[in-house]
Amino acid sequence: MNIILYGPPGSGKSRVGQALAARLNREFVDCDDLIETRVGQSIPQIFAERGEVGFRQIESNVCAELATRSNLIIALGGGALLDSANRTALERSGPIFCLCAEPAELLARLRIENHRPLLAGDDPKAKLTALLEARRALYDSFLEQINTTGQSIAQVTDEIATRLTPRSLPINAPGLKHEILLGYGLLQNLPGLLAEHGLTGPTFIVTDDNIATQISITNHQLPITILPAGEQHKTLATIQKLYDAFLQYSLDRTGCVIAMGGGVIGDLTGFAAATFMRGVRWVNVPTTLLAMVDASLGGKTGVDLPQGKNLVGAFHPPALVISDPLTLTTLPRAEHISGMAEVVKHGLIGDVGLFEMLEASPIFGSVTQLQRAIEVKIKVVEADPFEKGVRATLNAGHTIGHGIEAASGYRLRHGESIAIGLVAETRMAERMRLAESGLADRIENVLRKIGLPTRCPGLEVTAIRAAMSADKKKASGKLKFALPKRVGEVGWGIEVEENLIVKTLKEIVA
Ligand code: NAD
Repeated sequence: MNIILYGPPGSGKSRVGQALAARLNREFVDCDDLIETRVGQSIPQIFAERGEVGFRQIESNVCAELATRSNLIIALGGGALLDSANRTALERSGPIFCLCAEPAELLARLRIENHRPLLAGDDPKAKLTALLEARRALYDSFLEQINTTGQSIAQVTDEIATRLTPRSLPINAPGLKHEILLGYGLLQNLPGLLAEHGLTGPTFIVTDDNIATQISITNHQLPITILPAGEQHKTLATIQKLYDAFLQYSLDRTGCVIAMGGGVIGDLTGFAAATFMRGVRWVNVPTTLLAMVDASLGGKTGVDLPQGKNLVGAFHPPALVISDPLTLTTLPRAEHISGMAEVVKHGLIGDVGLFEMLEASPIFGSVTQLQRAIEVKIKVVEADPFEKGVRATLNAGHTIGHGIEAASGYRLRHGESIAIGLVAETRMAERMRLAESGLADRIENVLRKIGLPTRCPGLEVTAIRAAMSADKKKASGKLKFALPKRVGEVGWGIEVEENLIVKTLKEIVA
């Protein structure tokens, strides 16, 4: 894995990169220096002779080459990731830390240097301001942001080193005890981590046919079973295929099966592991945002029946969860957005600051943000491991959401359906005077900003309602809802009058 430093001119990439390389005992590469050495000219000379286009072409070649190497600390030029191909190649090779600082401080740092062709001329301040403005959206789009204003090189280096240190987040609930490891590059050491946790014996990976094409994810020299991707395959028929694979690989209670994928692969593999030979060990390696912050946590496993979602299942905690945010770099944008619905839900359930952070900016996915969303679920699961009470708050948005997901024939993603469900259920709660006024609008605004749907025009109310009845969140035949009351508080076990449910469903399909 590489570690990549990016940001505007003057943000300190080179000096921080050198300090980080010394600290982590890695090779440091300054992309601009490498270009100068390769071409045998200074950057201003390259600009003068070949123009910016010529320089960018050389830069792209160097970025592509660096992306194939590993264990480097790379400082990039401020425009290197304007090219999306450079960005894709480099971000798959390691986390990108975007360093930023107040414009005045950037300028003060740059006054010491005078070799920046894009800032050359009489008015570097105006040039820097224009450059920052033009690139603001690009710089803001990186998940790992470091504000270096007023910070020493040592402080910035410390901050990056902290973010790079893997975290162990235990779930300490009786009957559900297990550990979640979260950190960049953890997957590269999969066999080592398994051995450290005593997970020896016959071992193989279960994944799906999308993830299997991501060589970096599956290149672990362990046997692999590849299932077709998609919720429509979260069925008992697929479980039978998994039992066949377990037998083929001689899996027994001394071995372990690794679920490498999104919530569907985790739910399927976990359920097969729960039931094969009355329970074998499994490891969950979530590769979607949704699975990282929600589905991989808390030991619930299961499959859908034609009548409804997750109707067959078991509590069977994995022996270990390994969450590597680098896996998310290959995740399609729509899947990332879908996962954000559960992040919003976690803010609503138990982290006001997280919800407010999303209201301020929908960009989410740094390791500290992931940890924060994960910790909400851990807290709820620890308080009520087997869903006798407060764990039901995690079902906020899910009663209507599951109905929508099934009624759409799984055309709508899980997170998309939950987003619509969250808004609809909060509107019901407002009408019942359980939720504070304006809460549904507030939630809807956040979800829209993220890019999630909050309506499902064209779906049949009767189909959604029928699928809701098949959902398992019922007690004594009655639907029970988990309804948001205010940001940070969700009630559970709440019955809702039938005519209010139908009225709300009519609104969301209109
Ligand atoms: P998913 O597993 O279907 O994954 C979404 C898509 O992303 C799939 O096409 C998959 O192939 C692809 N994908 C996954 N990782 C990738 C990667 N790194 N790069 C490229 N493509 C990748 O869906 P999901 O949203 O992860 O999970 C939804 C499921 O999770 C639902 O079945 C839901 O019921 C379940 N769930 C379970 C729990 C629980 O507690 N067990 C909680 C919440 C949700």
